[in-house]
Amino acid sequence: MLIGHERIVEYFNNLLKRERLAHGYAFCGPEGVGKRTLALYIAQNIFCPEVIIRNHKRDVCSICISITRGEHQNTIVIKTDNDGAKKNISIEQIRQLRKKLMLKEMEGRRRIIIIDGAEFMNTEAANAFLKTLEEPFSNINFFLITQSVSALLQTTASRVQSVRFNVVSDGKIEKALLAKGIEEKLAKECVSLANGCPGLAIAIAQDKELHAATKEINKTAKYFISDFISERLKLPVILAEDREEAALQINKWLLVLEGLMREQLQKGDPKVRLTANSAEKLLRLAELVKNTNINIRLALEQIIFDRTENKIYH
Ligand SMILES: [Zn+2]
Repeated sequence: MLIGHERIVEYFNNLLKRERLAHGYAFCGPEGVGKRTLALYIAQNIFCPEVIIRNHKRDVCSICISITRGEHQNTIVIKTDNDGAKKNISIEQIRQLRKKLMLKEMEGRRRIIIIDGAEFMNTEAANAFLKTLEEPFSNINFFLITQSVSALLQTTASRVQSVRFNVVSDGKIEKALLAKGIEEKLAKECVSLANGCPGLAIAIAQDKELHAATKEINKTAKYFISDFISERLKLPVILAEDREEAALQINKWLLVLEGLMREQLQKGDPKVRLTANSAEKLLRLAELVKNTNINIRLALEQIIFDRTENKIYH
């Protein structure tokens, strides 16, 4: 179910009509915002002859369902494997993909390749994928799903068009949840926890554990702007030991702060400057975590102690 992103949908519908789809795209944006759903929607538009029928029910149609489930012959979806706690796309997965693409009997056949979590390709896999992307395959379109285009190899990023997915309005997400039969009170709570990501809102509504975890992230993100040092000091303590886990956690906090910022802006809350300031520092930290060997906990402590912005409203 595609929620929001009307302009991107219209853009791709136009490209499809004119058969002008580019060789590769990087769909970037927060988790659960709708990137993978749109890539699957495009595949459905290509392979299901019935999508042109008004009110075609993609969640009932067998072709559309097979695409969503990754079972359609001409739509290949590569997902991350959980290798221990770490998300990973391995060289083996890319090798298998290359093998499939090279099959003589499949030559020239229209295919859509979706790499879901492209930033989790390890170096070997990313290099093998780059070779695949450079191969002169005809009739194949690649969709790289990633939270950030800067997490891809630069050589890969330069060969694909990046499409940025912005968060979706709460109203649209709530309407969609209600249409799915989710009870109003729960729907409202999931919307407020999802920070503009419809896929996340739906997942929270269906998964109690995720619901609790997201609630916790939303609660702890607010410590950044707390006036109490005792609350802010809890942040380094709950930061994950594992570097990758910590990076994910920082990105989730960032998303919450961004949502909070939008809310505060609407209300004209002067605390928005403090939130913006924290978000900016956190964004910088996220970049440092990715590109350097920085001591994350120490850097986070620095953010917490540095509260010169308090002067703004005291
Ligand atoms: Zn269909």
